[in-house]
Amino acid sequence: MENCIFCKIVAGEIPSPRFYEDGDMIVIKDIEPKAKLHYLCIPKTHFALLSEMDEEKAELLKRVMKKIPELANGVLGLSGGYRMIVNQGADGGQSVPHLHIHLLGGETLTGF
Ligand code: AMP
Ligand code: ZN
Repeated sequence: MENCIFCKIVAGEIPSPRFYEDGDMIVIKDIEPKAKLHYLCIPKTHFALLSEMDEEKAELLKRVMKKIPELANGVLGLSGGYRMIVNQGADGGQSVPHLHIHLLGGETLTGF
């Protein structure tokens, strides 16, 4: 998708270190971390909202969700636990219209 910052990161047009990558997604660090560790799991397919999900995207997200605990306990250093956030639309505070999963941790999170 043209002019999508996450599509550009996925394509390598904007450099960003990848903590994990497979055929379905990349995991990068958020540039404005809201916790000691703040990652973004970004599916390689562009779509903004869960309401756009079809069977193919549902399968993609299923694989992504299955992978996250394994990554959390391994390379991401989130074995103590983590918070998962998926912002949806304006009221949800979504600033990048390419669906992504925030993973926050590395400390005990409060305030929810
Ligand atoms: P959201 O507000 O849920 O759409 O989340 C978008 C997130 O992307 C925000 O937390 C931003 O800090 C983060 N972000 C924006 N641009 C970049 C970038 N180039 N590299 C890493 N994270 C980014
Ligand atoms: Zn995109």
